Amino acid sequence: LDRKPLTPAWASPMRQALEGVQGYKAGMTLAEAARRTGLSAFSKLASNENLLGPSPKVAEAVMAAMAEPHIYPDPHSDVLRAAIGARLGVSPARVVVSPGSEALIDYVFRAVLHPGDSILLSSPTFPTYEIFGRCAEARIIDVPRLANFDIDVPAVCAAAALGPKLLVLCTPNNPTGNALKAADFQAILAATPRSTVVFVDEAYREYHEAFDTFAMLDAWGGPWVSARTFSKAYGLAGLRMGYGVASSPELVDYLDRIRPPFNVTAVSQAAALAAWEDQDYLKRTVDLTIAERGRVEAVLDDMGVEHTESHANFVFLRSPAGPEATAAHLLHQGLIIRPTPVAGGWVRITIGRPADNDALIAALPAALSL
Ligand code: PMP
Repeated sequence: LDRKPLTPAWASPMRQALEGVQGYKAGMTLAEAARRTGLSAFSKLASNENLLGPSPKVAEAVMAAMAEPHIYPDPHSDVLRAAIGARLGVSPARVVVSPGSEALIDYVFRAVLHPGDSILLSSPTFPTYEIFGRCAEARIIDVPRLANFDIDVPAVCAAAALGPKLLVLCTPNNPTGNALKAADFQAILAATPRSTVVFVDEAYREYHEAFDTFAMLDAWGGPWVSARTFSKAYGLAGLRMGYGVASSPELVDYLDRIRPPFNVTAVSQAAALAAWEDQDYLKRTVDLTIAERGRVEAVLDDMGVEHTESHANFVFLRSPAGPEATAAHLLHQGLIIRPTPVAGGWVRITIGRPADNDALIAALPAALSL
């Protein structure tokens, strides 16, 4: 009998690639904030949710979908994908849905990346790309953003020209709010070989529809996925719905091999459809959020606080007091915000309802030690 072990020994039963990977750290929950402060009510401004909530039509759709909890959801989300495709002018066969766009990032990264493949990104950006990239044993090629957090276009073009397996562009970018300009997007695509998969994360697109991403990507002609979400402007973060549009039905077919068949609940599909069909409500809440962002930014300017030109539903500003001290101070005023590790001491604060923003404006000078 050959008594050699079937699996070579390693120090841990877990995959070696996961050693040293730091899992995603979400913003503070209401329960945690209450435990830390003893307060009971908060403005939750740490996770870029839409505090105005979803279309009122969502509640009705959710109640109707709840009537049959014993029946599996449509594994293909056909009705929702048809509605998404129809409004966006693409075949539903090019649409994929997922429980949040973070799951779509997971599907794409797992479908595309072999160990040793390279992924090109520009930090500071959404940390999940690096986390999932490392889990896939990919090589992370970081072309850092400029001092104002815009993409370093010539440097990204030069790195993209070398043919990374995956090129990730987040626009508007989390946590900085910067958006790519059409000409810059065009220049990056022109430099990128058609063997690279381009992944454009447009989670905040509804706040800044800068250019026709699909048309530009189709004209480029390589494989691509644009990821979008119902978690932000559509106000459905708790129901976990994201979607993506891909360059071809064939690419979606590959993602479907990885996508768990019943990945989104019937309730979430119904809620997303109701939110999707109420574009008037979407526009009203987006317009209000953008106006409120302008109001907060004007106050920051008056106070002489450095901030980026945000195109999303949050502001990104430099705290002279330091991010952790500012977040701790605001927490005790009932405001949960997001300190970030970005060099220079930056915090990200979601734009809430007008009353949330009033409270923020009142508390900011002391929280920033001005
Ligand atoms: N991409 C970006 C840029 C984000 O900011 C977020 C949420 N913070 C996500 C993806 C994931 O969001 P969700 O899974 O809720 O769609």
